[in-house]
Amino acid sequence: MTRKAEISGGGIGGLAVATMLANDGWRVRVHEQGPEIREIGAGIYVKNNSLEVLGHLGVIDRIRDRGTVLEKAQIRFADGRIRQERRLAGAAQVHTYARQTLIEGLRDAAMDAGVEVNTNSRVVGVDADALVTQDGGRHPADLIVAADGVHSTIRQSLGIGGGFTELPTRIDRFLVRSRRFTPELQTVEHWSGHRRIGVTPAGPEHTYVYMVAPSRETAATRLPLDVGDWAAHFPLLRSLFEHIGDLPATQYSYGAVDCPRWSAGRVAILGDAAHGLPPTLGQGAGLTLMNAMALTVMLREAEDIPRVLSAWEQRVRFISDRTQRWSRYYDAFTRQWPQSLHFVHPLVVWGFGKLGFLNNRMRIADRGLRTAGIRLDERPSGC
Ligand SMILES: Cc1cc2nc3c(=O)[nH]c(=O)nc-3n(C[C@H](O)[C@H](O)[C@H](O)COP(=O)(O)OP(=O)(O)OC[C@H]3O[C@@H](n4cnc5c(N)ncnc54)[C@H](O)[C@@H]3O)c2cc1C
Repeated sequence: MTRKAEISGGGIGGLAVATMLANDGWRVRVHEQGPEIREIGAGIYVKNNSLEVLGHLGVIDRIRDRGTVLEKAQIRFADGRIRQERRLAGAAQVHTYARQTLIEGLRDAAMDAGVEVNTNSRVVGVDADALVTQDGGRHPADLIVAADGVHSTIRQSLGIGGGFTELPTRIDRFLVRSRRFTPELQTVEHWSGHRRIGVTPAGPEHTYVYMVAPSRETAATRLPLDVGDWAAHFPLLRSLFEHIGDLPATQYSYGAVDCPRWSAGRVAILGDAAHGLPPTLGQGAGLTLMNAMALTVMLREAEDIPRVLSAWEQRVRFISDRTQRWSRYYDAFTRQWPQSLHFVHPLVVWGFGKLGFLNNRMRIADRGLRTAGIRLDERPSGC
């Protein structure tokens, strides 16, 4: 008999898991509260682990021409000196895309796989083995997936505890229709005091810029951009600030989700709803895609769905937990570095880049599902 899945959330996690399940023969419906499938934000780094999963789904073939394959990543201080440089190849490969490009690729893959997508459909909770929508609809399913983001309604309705904690760091994001500032295939993060600015190409026509500062630095969190204040911290980037000063930006506070359990009965909690994290390592979507893939693989030929969901969490959760921990350390390191130790800051950043074992621990997610011993084409039995 055909198995049925109901999914709350038409973001990266919801669309990806929907496509994977549909490709495995499930009947799948996605409920998205918004009027259309779209992404808020500017650009996105798509790292090795994401590339493996998106490649498997055929999404990369759909969007590659609209993205950039990066060759290196640098950290530069405000004086322009390079303090860290990494080659982006092998397990460190990275693409960048406009967010809307990625979500459209996922949406189209979902439609082609036969997924039903209901927009303007807000999920209010779960009742026994059914997903409940605001219009009074009750949708029984073999599997329910909560892919409804950091403030997950389903997570809250399950009463499992945990929740979202806002962190005192702000990020502004811009998508600039120009490659004037990014002629090379590299992403550069500029550091000055407690602030960081990322500048990276995102496809043939766009540059993605993010600007990070502690919430306490009020001038830095002003929109439209306070060009004079930012230029005082990053004099070499003044022409960039002048260019983006009047462009629309999205502002977001860093945050993290604590989710004590990733499942309850037939309900799986996926993506930011389960492990939302500060974007310092650019791995939120990566973890989401990996966990969606692992879940789908483990559900193949499995009868006892609640048992598979527990086994799934046991098998893969350590990667998300470790990545979330390191993302928070990274945020704290850049936000709280003491002014009195200002002179050793460049040395520490340089040294960190050279310590392979630390990078390996911090970037565990980059290596993908093989760290959990899962192959994308695996067909397990006896779960
Ligand atoms: C500033 C910033 C930069 C980032 N940069 C990167 C990066 O470079 N690389 C990377 O891998 N990750 C990055 N991330 C993380 C990445 O964006 C997220 O991890 C990813 O989008 C999570 O996808 P999701 O589907 O779990 O949640 P979301 O993207 O939040 O999607 C949830 C969806 O559910 C819908 N929804 C919510 N509630 C309901 C409801 N009750 N009923 C129906 N629908 C509902 C929402 O409208 C939304 O469409 C970044 C995040 C931020 C904030």
